[in-house]
Amino acid sequence: MSDNNQNSIVDIHTHIFNLDYLPIEGILRANGIGKILAKVLTKIISAVTGNTDFNREEIRLSFEDENYTQKFMKMRNTELLEDMVLRMPIQVIDDKDTQEALDEFLELNEPTLEKSERFSEKIKLMEPNSEEYKFYSREVMLDFLNATLNKSESNRKAKRSIDFDYIKWFLFMTGNEQKIINILLREYRHIDHFVFHMMDADYLFKKGRPSKMLFSKQIENMEAVIQKYGDRFIGFIPFNPNRKKSLEYISEAFTRGYFKGIKFYPPLGYRPIDDKNAKYKERIDELFKKYGDGTVPFFTHCTPSGFESIPNWSGRNANPIYWEERLKINLNLKVCLGHAGGDAGWFDDFNENDIFPYYNQKFIKDGKEIIECIRPYGKKVYELCTTYKNVYCEVGFLAHNNDPGKLNNFKKRMEYLLSKDSQKNYAFGSKIMYGSDWHILYNEGLEDNYDDAYNAVFNDSNYPNLNKAKSRFFVENAKSYLGIEEAIV
Ligand SMILES: [Zn+2]
Repeated sequence: MSDNNQNSIVDIHTHIFNLDYLPIEGILRANGIGKILAKVLTKIISAVTGNTDFNREEIRLSFEDENYTQKFMKMRNTELLEDMVLRMPIQVIDDKDTQEALDEFLELNEPTLEKSERFSEKIKLMEPNSEEYKFYSREVMLDFLNATLNKSESNRKAKRSIDFDYIKWFLFMTGNEQKIINILLREYRHIDHFVFHMMDADYLFKKGRPSKMLFSKQIENMEAVIQKYGDRFIGFIPFNPNRKKSLEYISEAFTRGYFKGIKFYPPLGYRPIDDKNAKYKERIDELFKKYGDGTVPFFTHCTPSGFESIPNWSGRNANPIYWEERLKINLNLKVCLGHAGGDAGWFDDFNENDIFPYYNQKFIKDGKEIIECIRPYGKKVYELCTTYKNVYCEVGFLAHNNDPGKLNNFKKRMEYLLSKDSQKNYAFGSKIMYGSDWHILYNEGLEDNYDDAYNAVFNDSNYPNLNKAKSRFFVENAKSYLGIEEAIV
Protein backbone atom coordinates (compact mmCIF):
# COMPACT_ATOMS: atom_id res chain seq x y z
CA MET A 1 0.00 0.00 0.00
CA SER A 2 1.31 3.43 -0.89
CA ASP A 3 1.73 6.23 1.68
CA ASN A 4 -0.93 8.46 0.27
CA ASN A 5 -3.65 5.88 0.72
CA GLN A 6 -6.57 6.80 2.91
CA ASN A 7 -5.95 5.75 6.51
CA SER A 8 -9.46 5.01 7.48
CA ILE A 9 -12.08 3.46 5.19
CA VAL A 10 -15.70 2.45 5.54
CA ASP A 11 -16.99 0.15 2.79
CA ILE A 12 -20.69 1.02 2.76
CA HIS A 13 -21.71 -1.83 0.45
CA THR A 14 -20.68 -5.48 0.96
CA HIS A 15 -22.39 -8.89 1.12
CA ILE A 16 -21.46 -11.92 3.18
CA PHE A 17 -24.42 -14.26 2.58
CA ASN A 18 -24.06 -17.52 0.73
CA LEU A 19 -26.39 -19.57 -1.47
CA ASP A 20 -28.42 -20.87 1.46
CA TYR A 21 -29.78 -17.33 1.80
CA LEU A 22 -31.15 -17.14 -1.75
CA PRO A 23 -34.13 -18.75 -3.55
CA ILE A 24 -31.84 -20.50 -6.02
CA GLU A 25 -34.51 -22.45 -7.88
CA GLY A 26 -36.51 -19.31 -8.65
CA ILE A 27 -33.40 -17.41 -9.73
CA LEU A 28 -32.38 -20.22 -12.10
CA ARG A 29 -35.88 -20.45 -13.56
CA ALA A 30 -36.19 -16.70 -14.02
CA ASN A 31 -32.94 -16.93 -15.97
CA GLY A 32 -34.35 -19.45 -18.42
CA ILE A 33 -33.38 -22.77 -16.85
CA GLY A 34 -36.10 -25.45 -17.12
CA LYS A 35 -38.08 -26.86 -14.22
CA ILE A 36 -36.36 -30.24 -13.69
CA LEU A 37 -32.93 -28.84 -14.38
CA ALA A 38 -33.44 -25.98 -11.92
CA LYS A 39 -34.64 -28.44 -9.29
CA VAL A 40 -31.60 -30.69 -9.73
CA LEU A 41 -29.12 -27.83 -9.87
CA THR A 42 -30.64 -26.44 -6.68
CA LYS A 43 -30.14 -29.80 -4.98
CA ILE A 44 -26.54 -30.05 -6.10
CA ILE A 45 -25.78 -26.48 -5.10
CA SER A 46 -27.44 -26.93 -1.71
CA ALA A 47 -25.51 -30.12 -1.12
CA VAL A 48 -22.12 -28.50 -1.75
CA THR A 49 -22.83 -25.21 0.04
CA GLY A 50 -20.92 -25.07 3.31
CA ASN A 51 -22.85 -25.24 6.57
CA THR A 52 -22.87 -22.30 8.94
CA ASP A 53 -20.06 -22.53 11.46
CA PHE A 54 -18.89 -19.42 13.27
CA ASN A 55 -17.04 -21.32 15.97
CA ARG A 56 -14.11 -22.38 13.87
CA GLU A 57 -11.91 -19.33 13.58
CA GLU A 58 -10.24 -20.25 10.29
CA ILE A 59 -12.14 -22.15 7.68
CA ARG A 60 -9.63 -23.57 5.25
CA LEU A 61 -9.57 -21.83 1.89
CA SER A 62 -9.25 -24.00 -1.20
CA PHE A 63 -6.24 -22.05 -2.40
CA GLU A 64 -3.85 -21.76 0.50
CA ASP A 65 -2.38 -18.40 -0.31
CA GLU A 66 -3.02 -14.68 -0.26
CA ASN A 67 -4.50 -14.47 -3.72
CA TYR A 68 -7.57 -16.60 -3.42
CA THR A 69 -9.82 -14.29 -5.40
CA GLN A 70 -7.35 -13.69 -8.20
CA LYS A 71 -6.90 -17.43 -8.64
CA PHE A 72 -10.60 -18.02 -8.41
CA MET A 73 -11.28 -15.43 -11.10
CA LYS A 74 -8.68 -16.95 -13.41
CA MET A 75 -10.10 -20.45 -13.17
CA ARG A 76 -12.30 -21.54 -16.01
CA ASN A 77 -15.90 -22.27 -15.08
CA THR A 78 -15.44 -25.88 -16.18
CA GLU A 79 -12.63 -26.31 -13.64
CA LEU A 80 -14.81 -24.85 -10.94
CA LEU A 81 -17.62 -27.23 -11.87
CA GLU A 82 -15.22 -30.15 -11.62
CA ASP A 83 -14.26 -29.00 -8.15
CA MET A 84 -17.94 -28.80 -7.24
CA VAL A 85 -18.68 -32.31 -8.54
CA LEU A 86 -15.77 -33.69 -6.51
CA ARG A 87 -17.19 -32.06 -3.40
CA MET A 88 -20.69 -33.30 -4.14
CA PRO A 89 -22.02 -35.85 -1.64
CA ILE A 90 -22.84 -39.07 -3.47
CA GLN A 91 -26.39 -39.06 -2.02
CA VAL A 92 -27.27 -36.42 -4.59
CA ILE A 93 -26.94 -39.18 -7.19
CA ASP A 94 -29.43 -41.41 -5.38
CA ASP A 95 -32.05 -38.68 -5.64
CA LYS A 96 -34.98 -39.44 -7.96
CA ASP A 97 -35.01 -36.00 -9.61
CA THR A 98 -31.27 -36.13 -10.25
CA GLN A 99 -31.60 -39.50 -11.97
CA GLU A 100 -34.53 -38.30 -14.03
CA ALA A 101 -32.56 -35.24 -15.16
CA LEU A 102 -29.50 -37.31 -16.02
CA ASP A 103 -31.61 -39.83 -17.95
CA GLU A 104 -33.18 -37.02 -19.90
CA PHE A 105 -29.76 -35.53 -20.55
CA LEU A 106 -28.31 -38.82 -21.84
CA GLU A 107 -31.31 -39.47 -24.04
CA LEU A 108 -31.11 -36.01 -25.53
CA ASN A 109 -27.45 -36.36 -26.33
CA GLU A 110 -27.59 -39.95 -27.51
CA PRO A 111 -30.98 -40.49 -29.14
CA THR A 112 -30.12 -44.11 -29.99
CA LEU A 113 -29.61 -44.99 -26.34
CA GLU A 114 -31.10 -48.34 -25.25
CA LYS A 115 -33.31 -48.28 -22.18
CA SER A 116 -30.72 -50.32 -20.32
CA GLU A 117 -28.15 -47.62 -21.05
CA ARG A 118 -30.05 -45.01 -19.07
CA PHE A 119 -28.26 -43.55 -16.11
CA SER A 120 -30.80 -44.82 -13.59
CA GLU A 121 -30.63 -48.34 -15.07
CA LYS A 122 -26.88 -48.49 -15.27
CA ILE A 123 -26.17 -47.49 -11.68
CA LYS A 124 -28.66 -50.10 -10.48
CA LEU A 125 -26.15 -52.69 -11.65
CA MET A 126 -23.33 -51.11 -9.70
CA GLU A 127 -22.47 -51.64 -6.08
CA PRO A 128 -23.69 -48.46 -4.29
CA ASN A 129 -20.80 -46.35 -3.08
CA SER A 130 -18.27 -48.43 -5.00
CA GLU A 131 -15.50 -46.65 -6.90
CA GLU A 132 -17.16 -47.56 -10.18
CA TYR A 133 -20.46 -46.05 -9.01
CA LYS A 134 -18.80 -42.84 -7.87
CA PHE A 135 -16.65 -42.51 -10.95
CA TYR A 136 -19.45 -43.14 -13.43
CA SER A 137 -21.97 -40.86 -11.72
CA ARG A 138 -19.49 -38.01 -11.35
CA GLU A 139 -18.51 -38.29 -15.01
CA VAL A 140 -22.12 -38.11 -16.19
CA MET A 141 -22.86 -35.33 -13.71
CA LEU A 142 -19.91 -33.29 -14.96
CA ASP A 143 -20.95 -33.68 -18.62
CA PHE A 144 -24.45 -32.67 -17.63
CA LEU A 145 -23.27 -29.58 -15.77
CA ASN A 146 -20.92 -28.54 -18.54
CA ALA A 147 -23.69 -28.85 -21.11
CA THR A 148 -26.00 -26.81 -18.86
CA LEU A 149 -23.29 -24.23 -18.41
CA ASN A 150 -22.68 -23.90 -22.15
CA LYS A 151 -26.36 -23.58 -22.83
CA SER A 152 -26.91 -20.93 -20.18
CA GLU A 153 -23.77 -19.10 -21.35
CA SER A 154 -25.06 -18.85 -24.89
CA ASN A 155 -28.49 -17.83 -23.62
CA ARG A 156 -26.90 -15.17 -21.50
CA LYS A 157 -24.82 -13.84 -24.35
CA ALA A 158 -27.83 -13.73 -26.62
CA LYS A 159 -30.15 -12.11 -24.13
CA ARG A 160 -28.46 -10.11 -21.47
CA SER A 161 -27.37 -6.55 -21.85
CA ILE A 162 -24.77 -6.68 -19.11
CA ASP A 163 -22.08 -9.22 -18.51
CA PHE A 164 -23.23 -10.69 -15.25
CA ASP A 165 -21.59 -14.05 -14.60
CA TYR A 166 -24.06 -15.78 -12.29
CA ILE A 167 -22.11 -19.01 -12.47
CA LYS A 168 -18.90 -17.67 -11.01
CA TRP A 169 -20.79 -15.69 -8.41
CA PHE A 170 -22.82 -18.78 -7.45
CA LEU A 171 -19.74 -20.97 -7.20
CA PHE A 172 -18.10 -18.42 -4.94
CA MET A 173 -21.20 -18.43 -2.76
CA THR A 174 -20.98 -22.16 -2.10
CA GLY A 175 -18.56 -21.27 0.69
CA ASN A 176 -20.01 -20.98 4.18
CA GLU A 177 -20.42 -17.55 5.76
CA GLN A 178 -17.23 -17.76 7.78
CA LYS A 179 -15.19 -18.65 4.72
CA ILE A 180 -16.69 -15.72 2.81
CA ILE A 181 -15.93 -13.39 5.74
CA ASN A 182 -12.37 -14.74 5.96
CA ILE A 183 -11.76 -13.98 2.29
CA LEU A 184 -13.16 -10.47 2.69
CA LEU A 185 -11.08 -9.79 5.80
CA ARG A 186 -7.96 -11.24 4.26
CA GLU A 187 -8.18 -9.34 0.99
CA TYR A 188 -9.45 -6.08 2.42
CA ARG A 189 -7.65 -6.11 5.75
CA HIS A 190 -7.09 -2.34 5.68
CA ILE A 191 -10.82 -1.58 5.54
CA ASP A 192 -12.00 -0.55 9.02
CA HIS A 193 -15.74 -1.15 8.73
CA PHE A 194 -17.75 -3.33 6.38
CA VAL A 195 -21.40 -2.41 6.05
CA PHE A 196 -23.05 -5.63 4.85
CA HIS A 197 -26.46 -6.00 3.28
CA MET A 198 -28.67 -9.03 3.56
CA MET A 199 -31.05 -9.79 0.67
CA ASP A 200 -34.56 -11.15 1.06
CA ALA A 201 -35.54 -12.46 -2.35
CA ASP A 202 -37.98 -15.13 -1.15
CA TYR A 203 -41.47 -15.18 -2.74
CA LEU A 204 -40.45 -12.50 -5.24
CA PHE A 205 -39.50 -14.83 -8.10
CA LYS A 206 -42.53 -16.24 -9.91
CA LYS A 207 -41.49 -19.89 -9.59
CA GLY A 208 -39.50 -22.11 -7.29
CA ARG A 209 -39.20 -22.56 -3.57
CA PRO A 210 -37.80 -20.05 -1.05
CA SER A 211 -34.23 -20.08 0.19
CA LYS A 212 -32.95 -23.16 1.98
CA MET A 213 -32.26 -21.29 5.21
CA LEU A 214 -35.25 -19.92 7.11
CA PHE A 215 -35.28 -16.13 7.18
CA SER A 216 -35.33 -16.05 10.99
CA LYS A 217 -32.19 -18.21 10.98
CA GLN A 218 -30.54 -15.92 8.43
CA ILE A 219 -31.11 -12.96 10.76
CA GLU A 220 -29.83 -14.92 13.73
CA ASN A 221 -26.63 -15.83 11.86
CA MET A 222 -25.97 -12.28 10.77
CA GLU A 223 -26.48 -11.03 14.31
CA ALA A 224 -23.90 -13.60 15.39
CA VAL A 225 -21.46 -12.03 12.91
CA ILE A 226 -22.07 -8.56 14.38
CA GLN A 227 -21.59 -9.91 17.89
CA LYS A 228 -18.41 -11.71 16.92
CA TYR A 229 -16.73 -8.82 15.11
CA GLY A 230 -18.05 -5.80 17.01
CA ASP A 231 -18.42 -2.69 14.85
CA ARG A 232 -16.09 -4.05 12.16
CA PHE A 233 -19.28 -5.46 10.59
CA ILE A 234 -22.35 -3.22 10.42
CA GLY A 235 -25.53 -4.92 9.20
CA PHE A 236 -28.55 -3.87 7.12
CA ILE A 237 -31.68 -6.00 7.39
CA PRO A 238 -33.77 -6.47 4.22
CA PHE A 239 -37.37 -5.49 3.65
CA ASN A 240 -39.58 -7.78 1.57
CA PRO A 241 -43.09 -6.58 0.58
CA ASN A 242 -44.22 -10.14 -0.11
CA ARG A 243 -43.27 -11.46 3.32
CA LYS A 244 -46.20 -11.07 5.68
CA LYS A 245 -44.09 -10.44 8.74
CA SER A 246 -41.33 -8.43 7.08
CA LEU A 247 -41.95 -5.34 9.21
CA GLU A 248 -42.12 -7.42 12.36
CA TYR A 249 -38.76 -8.99 11.60
CA ILE A 250 -37.30 -5.53 11.10
CA SER A 251 -38.74 -3.96 14.23
CA GLU A 252 -37.82 -6.95 16.40
CA ALA A 253 -34.28 -6.87 15.04
CA PHE A 254 -33.97 -3.15 15.80
CA THR A 255 -35.19 -3.85 19.33
CA ARG A 256 -32.38 -6.39 19.79
CA GLY A 257 -30.06 -3.66 18.58
CA TYR A 258 -27.62 -5.31 16.18
CA PHE A 259 -28.73 -4.05 12.78
CA LYS A 260 -28.24 -0.41 11.81
CA GLY A 261 -30.25 0.04 8.61
CA ILE A 262 -32.73 -1.35 6.09
CA LYS A 263 -31.96 -2.84 2.67
CA PHE A 264 -34.45 -2.09 -0.10
CA TYR A 265 -34.07 -3.85 -3.47
CA PRO A 266 -36.48 -2.63 -6.21
CA PRO A 267 -35.16 -4.89 -9.05
CA LEU A 268 -36.77 -7.76 -7.12
CA GLY A 269 -40.11 -6.33 -8.23
CA TYR A 270 -41.26 -3.48 -6.00
CA ARG A 271 -40.76 0.25 -5.65
CA PRO A 272 -40.67 2.84 -2.86
CA ILE A 273 -43.92 4.53 -3.87
CA ASP A 274 -47.23 3.69 -5.62
CA ASP A 275 -46.45 0.03 -6.09
CA LYS A 276 -48.86 -1.55 -8.57
CA ASN A 277 -49.49 -4.39 -6.15
CA ALA A 278 -51.95 -3.11 -3.51
CA LYS A 279 -50.67 -5.44 -0.81
CA TYR A 280 -47.07 -4.40 -1.46
CA LYS A 281 -48.05 -0.75 -1.53
CA GLU A 282 -49.71 -0.95 1.85
CA ARG A 283 -46.67 -2.61 3.44
CA ILE A 284 -44.26 -0.22 1.76
CA ASP A 285 -46.23 2.82 2.95
CA GLU A 286 -46.18 1.39 6.46
CA LEU A 287 -42.43 0.84 6.28
CA PHE A 288 -41.77 4.47 5.41
CA LYS A 289 -44.33 5.72 7.91
CA LYS A 290 -42.37 3.93 10.57
CA TYR A 291 -38.78 4.49 9.44
CA GLY A 292 -38.93 7.29 6.87
CA ASP A 293 -38.23 10.13 9.32
CA GLY A 294 -34.45 10.06 8.88
CA THR A 295 -33.59 8.08 12.00
CA VAL A 296 -32.89 4.82 10.15
CA PRO A 297 -30.67 4.68 7.05
CA PHE A 298 -32.11 2.91 3.99
CA PHE A 299 -29.88 1.45 1.30
CA THR A 300 -31.37 0.87 -2.13
CA HIS A 301 -30.08 -0.59 -5.35
CA CYS A 302 -30.14 2.14 -8.01
CA THR A 303 -29.31 1.04 -11.57
CA PRO A 304 -31.68 -0.11 -14.34
CA SER A 305 -30.52 -3.73 -13.96
CA GLY A 306 -29.02 -5.84 -11.15
CA PHE A 307 -30.45 -8.86 -9.37
CA GLU A 308 -33.84 -8.87 -11.08
CA SER A 309 -36.88 -11.06 -10.46
CA ILE A 310 -37.75 -10.49 -14.12
CA PRO A 311 -34.38 -10.32 -15.92
CA ASN A 312 -33.82 -7.21 -18.03
CA TRP A 313 -37.10 -5.73 -16.92
CA SER A 314 -37.78 -5.37 -13.18
CA GLY A 315 -34.67 -3.22 -12.70
CA ARG A 316 -36.83 -0.36 -13.91
CA ASN A 317 -38.28 -0.22 -10.39
CA ALA A 318 -34.91 1.12 -9.25
CA ASN A 319 -35.42 4.38 -11.13
CA PRO A 320 -34.64 7.23 -8.70
CA ILE A 321 -37.76 9.11 -9.82
CA TYR A 322 -39.67 6.86 -7.42
CA TRP A 323 -37.44 8.00 -4.57
CA GLU A 324 -38.05 11.59 -5.59
CA GLU A 325 -41.80 10.98 -5.15
CA ARG A 326 -41.23 9.22 -1.83
CA LEU A 327 -39.07 12.12 -0.63
CA LYS A 328 -41.91 14.55 -1.28
CA ILE A 329 -43.80 12.69 1.46
CA ASN A 330 -40.86 11.75 3.69
CA LEU A 331 -38.71 14.85 3.41
CA ASN A 332 -36.11 13.68 5.93
CA LEU A 333 -35.93 10.09 4.71
CA LYS A 334 -32.35 8.87 4.90
CA VAL A 335 -31.40 6.82 1.87
CA CYS A 336 -28.27 5.83 -0.01
CA LEU A 337 -28.80 5.34 -3.75
CA GLY A 338 -26.53 2.37 -4.45
CA HIS A 339 -24.20 2.41 -7.46
CA ALA A 340 -24.99 6.13 -7.88
CA GLY A 341 -27.42 5.23 -10.65
CA GLY A 342 -25.07 2.90 -12.54
CA ASP A 343 -22.17 3.18 -14.99
CA ALA A 344 -24.12 5.03 -17.63
CA GLY A 345 -23.46 8.73 -17.43
CA TRP A 346 -20.57 8.58 -15.01
CA PHE A 347 -18.01 7.16 -17.43
CA ASP A 348 -19.13 8.52 -20.80
CA ASP A 349 -17.35 11.45 -22.48
CA PHE A 350 -17.73 14.56 -20.38
CA ASN A 351 -19.34 17.71 -21.72
CA GLU A 352 -20.13 20.61 -19.38
CA ASN A 353 -23.27 21.50 -21.33
CA ASP A 354 -24.77 18.04 -21.13
CA ILE A 355 -23.39 16.35 -18.05
CA PHE A 356 -25.51 13.22 -18.19
CA PRO A 357 -26.24 12.64 -21.88
CA TYR A 358 -29.06 10.34 -23.03
CA TYR A 359 -28.04 6.78 -23.85
CA ASN A 360 -29.65 3.56 -25.11
CA GLN A 361 -30.68 1.14 -22.38
CA LYS A 362 -31.76 -2.36 -23.35
CA PHE A 363 -34.78 -3.97 -21.69
CA ILE A 364 -36.58 -7.23 -22.52
CA LYS A 365 -40.34 -7.48 -22.12
CA ASP A 366 -42.08 -10.81 -22.83
CA GLY A 367 -39.10 -12.00 -24.85
CA LYS A 368 -39.00 -8.85 -26.98
CA GLU A 369 -36.04 -6.54 -26.90
CA ILE A 370 -36.83 -2.89 -26.24
CA ILE A 371 -34.22 -0.17 -26.62
CA GLU A 372 -35.10 2.95 -24.70
CA CYS A 373 -33.21 6.19 -24.98
CA ILE A 374 -33.07 7.38 -21.39
CA ARG A 375 -31.25 9.78 -19.09
CA PRO A 376 -28.70 8.01 -16.90
CA TYR A 377 -30.15 7.46 -13.42
CA GLY A 378 -27.02 9.26 -12.18
CA LYS A 379 -28.52 12.60 -13.18
CA LYS A 380 -31.44 12.22 -10.78
CA VAL A 381 -29.14 10.72 -8.13
CA TYR A 382 -27.03 13.88 -8.24
CA GLU A 383 -30.13 16.09 -8.06
CA LEU A 384 -31.58 14.26 -5.06
CA CYS A 385 -28.25 14.22 -3.19
CA THR A 386 -27.86 17.97 -3.56
CA THR A 387 -31.52 18.81 -2.86
CA TYR A 388 -32.37 16.64 0.13
CA LYS A 389 -30.61 16.64 3.47
CA ASN A 390 -30.45 12.87 3.93
CA VAL A 391 -29.91 11.49 0.42
CA TYR A 392 -26.53 9.87 -0.23
CA CYS A 393 -25.00 7.74 -2.97
CA GLU A 394 -22.27 5.15 -3.35
CA VAL A 395 -19.93 3.95 -6.09
CA GLY A 396 -20.04 0.14 -5.74
CA PHE A 397 -19.57 -1.90 -8.88
CA LEU A 398 -19.10 1.09 -11.15
CA ALA A 399 -17.03 -0.67 -13.76
CA HIS A 400 -14.20 0.62 -15.94
CA ASN A 401 -11.76 0.85 -13.05
CA ASN A 402 -9.12 -0.47 -15.38
CA ASP A 403 -9.91 1.79 -18.32
CA PRO A 404 -7.91 5.06 -18.01
CA GLY A 405 -10.03 6.90 -20.59
CA LYS A 406 -13.30 6.07 -18.86
CA LEU A 407 -11.76 6.86 -15.48
CA ASN A 408 -10.71 10.29 -16.74
CA ASN A 409 -14.29 10.98 -17.80
CA PHE A 410 -15.40 10.02 -14.31
CA LYS A 411 -12.81 12.33 -12.71
CA LYS A 412 -13.66 15.29 -14.94
CA ARG A 413 -17.38 14.89 -14.30
CA MET A 414 -16.91 14.51 -10.54
CA GLU A 415 -14.53 17.47 -10.38
CA TYR A 416 -17.01 19.65 -12.23
CA LEU A 417 -19.95 18.62 -10.01
CA LEU A 418 -17.90 19.13 -6.84
CA SER A 419 -16.88 22.59 -8.04
CA LYS A 420 -20.58 23.57 -7.94
CA ASP A 421 -21.04 22.48 -4.33
CA SER A 422 -21.21 25.98 -2.83
CA GLN A 423 -24.27 26.72 -5.02
CA LYS A 424 -26.19 23.69 -3.83
CA ASN A 425 -28.47 23.12 -0.84
CA TYR A 426 -26.28 20.19 0.11
CA ALA A 427 -22.75 19.57 -1.13
CA PHE A 428 -22.35 16.52 -3.36
CA GLY A 429 -18.93 16.04 -1.76
CA SER A 430 -20.71 15.37 1.52
CA LYS A 431 -22.95 12.73 -0.04
CA ILE A 432 -20.77 10.36 -2.08
CA MET A 433 -19.46 7.28 -0.31
CA TYR A 434 -17.04 4.47 -0.98
CA GLY A 435 -18.66 1.08 -1.54
CA SER A 436 -17.45 -2.02 -3.34
CA ASP A 437 -20.47 -4.33 -3.69
CA TRP A 438 -18.14 -7.18 -2.76
CA HIS A 439 -18.87 -10.23 -3.39
CA ILE A 440 -20.85 -9.22 -6.49
CA LEU A 441 -17.55 -7.80 -7.72
CA TYR A 442 -16.66 -11.34 -8.65
CA ASN A 443 -18.67 -10.87 -11.76
CA GLU A 444 -16.38 -8.58 -13.61
CA GLY A 445 -13.06 -9.33 -11.99
CA LEU A 446 -13.17 -6.00 -10.20
CA GLU A 447 -12.46 -7.64 -6.87
CA ASP A 448 -8.81 -6.74 -7.07
CA ASN A 449 -8.05 -3.71 -4.85
CA TYR A 450 -11.21 -1.79 -5.54
CA ASP A 451 -10.36 0.81 -2.90
CA ASP A 452 -6.93 1.41 -4.46
CA ALA A 453 -8.61 2.37 -7.71
CA TYR A 454 -10.68 5.01 -5.91
CA ASN A 455 -7.67 6.14 -3.90
CA ALA A 456 -5.94 6.87 -7.18
CA VAL A 457 -8.98 8.77 -8.46
CA PHE A 458 -9.21 10.97 -5.37
CA ASN A 459 -5.42 11.47 -5.18
CA ASP A 460 -5.01 12.72 -8.75
CA SER A 461 -3.44 16.15 -8.26
CA ASN A 462 -5.09 17.48 -11.44
CA TYR A 463 -8.40 17.51 -9.60
CA PRO A 464 -8.27 19.67 -6.44
CA ASN A 465 -11.96 19.26 -5.59
CA LEU A 466 -11.63 15.48 -5.68
CA ASN A 467 -8.58 15.71 -3.38
CA LYS A 468 -10.58 17.83 -0.95
CA ALA A 469 -13.50 15.40 -0.90
CA LYS A 470 -11.36 12.31 -0.35
CA SER A 471 -11.72 11.72 3.39
CA ARG A 472 -15.41 12.58 3.24
CA PHE A 473 -15.79 10.00 0.45
CA PHE A 474 -13.94 7.23 2.27
CA VAL A 475 -15.15 7.73 5.82
CA GLU A 476 -16.84 10.91 7.03
CA ASN A 477 -19.96 10.76 4.85
CA ALA A 478 -20.48 7.13 5.81
CA LYS A 479 -20.36 8.08 9.47
CA SER A 480 -23.02 10.75 9.13
CA TYR A 481 -25.14 8.46 6.93
CA LEU A 482 -24.91 5.69 9.52
CA GLY A 483 -25.54 8.15 12.32
CA ILE A 484 -22.58 6.88 14.30
CA GLU A 485 -20.22 9.81 13.97
CA GLU A 486 -18.81 9.59 17.44
CA ALA A 487 -19.02 5.89 17.89
CA ILE A 488 -16.66 4.55 15.25
CA VAL A 489 -13.21 4.99 13.67
ZN1 LIG B 1 -25.04 -5.14 -3.55
